[in-house]
Amino acid sequence: MPTAIKTAPGNVTAQQIERCGGGYLLSNPSIGALSILHAEESLLFILLSASSGETGKLERFLIDLNYDETTAHEKTAAFLKKLDRDGWNRTTLEPPDSKPLHAAYVAITLRCNLKCPYCFQAFESRSAMDMEEAVFARITDEVKTTNPDCEIIITGGEPFLTRRIFDYLDLLDASELRFSILTNGTLITDRIARRLDAYQRLTKVQVSIDGITESTNAITRGKGSLPKILAGIHSLRNHGIPLALAPTIHSKNLHELEDLARFALSIGAEFSPNNLRLSAHDQRSDLSINDMAAYEALKELNLRLAAETSTRHSPAGKSTPDHTPSCRREPKLLCGMARTLISIDYNGDVYPCHLLAAKELKLGNIMVNRIREIIDGAEARRVRISATQISKCKTCKFVALCGGGCRAGAYYSFGSLSREDNLCDVLYRSFTDKFIGMQHAPSSVGSE
Ligand code: SF4
Ligand code: SF4
Repeated sequence: MPTAIKTAPGNVTAQQIERCGGGYLLSNPSIGALSILHAEESLLFILLSASSGETGKLERFLIDLNYDETTAHEKTAAFLKKLDRDGWNRTTLEPPDSKPLHAAYVAITLRCNLKCPYCFQAFESRSAMDMEEAVFARITDEVKTTNPDCEIIITGGEPFLTRRIFDYLDLLDASELRFSILTNGTLITDRIARRLDAYQRLTKVQVSIDGITESTNAITRGKGSLPKILAGIHSLRNHGIPLALAPTIHSKNLHELEDLARFALSIGAEFSPNNLRLSAHDQRSDLSINDMAAYEALKELNLRLAAETSTRHSPAGKSTPDHTPSCRREPKLLCGMARTLISIDYNGDVYPCHLLAAKELKLGNIMVNRIREIIDGAEARRVRISATQISKCKTCKFVALCGGGCRAGAYYSFGSLSREDNLCDVLYRSFTDKFIGMQHAPSSVGSE
């Protein structure tokens, strides 16, 4: 005799039902539940819904359909497990409990040798703005105390412009904190790559590159920078340092994305394109792009490259974590800003994230406040907006996968953290593609 099934979903009322391929897409945004069910499962769902979660009726229904007792029991158990995975056991949709800090962006200088038009740092305020050693030491101590598994992301400006960078990296390595570096790559020599190779805790160097030809790269990164960037990339690669190439997609480099992706794959680098986010400091409207067209181009590129490389992941974009069952069981209702992620400016000022480093969003200063106190403080709670507080998102069937997208996109486009991501249409399309089985859709257009 099969053992009794003990779990039944707490809420099996679908608010939206749509045809989807050979089955049905059922969703209940109020609890973030979302399933694709085939015809037989849809009947089980209706039965369960009508019988207030009484699972015995499902087994009897399946036996009436000529399944034997054991098969009926196994099918019922598998169906209930699927509903649990898809979120139907929730009774409410609450933002997750606080989680440990997992990343801290640290701008060790605001100085830069390039002048990219979409940079989120304002150009006019960049003279002699290097981080003091005492500030960096305090950050290291504080991050280690807050969560020793947190990753420090060294950024700028251009971090290799400050001579202190290796003192700082030595300190991180000795403190056994993981760290990565975001750089424009133009200053990386063979000697620098050799020094980087000696670090145990360096996880990755991410190099910004916007084109594979001089004329395209020069549009945003400036004339003559490409040979220096490529020389830096090759030095890093020759020393076996994990690499990511990160173009910012805009209207004038979309045509070179495939060549850039192929170049990244050929040298064993990650390819991590970023969407152009309109920000307070945007200088060039001619670079703005039709985001849906960019998304479709990236999706096609992923499909082509994945077919060639026989991979289920997205070679030309980030992987698709939102598609995994565990993410669906644990709803994502807000991004990491001011929660699992913070950004620290050269002077110790702390912001919700690297894209939200606007003075009015300052959360505190690392020389005065503890990180825990900053994250738990009123300022952080004020800016941390859950998707359930965003009117468009709380009725969206993808709410528990998307979490309302990127708050920075909303803030710079609509002047409010409480709006949906300005790339909502693209996100919606990408979740439709992923959820209905398009494994190679580029992942979220957020920048976390
Ligand atoms: S941003 Fe758009 S896709 Fe994401 S939850 Fe909100 S409405 Fe849905
Ligand atoms: S999703 Fe946007 S707002 Fe949130 S942490 Fe990432 S960049 Fe910042």
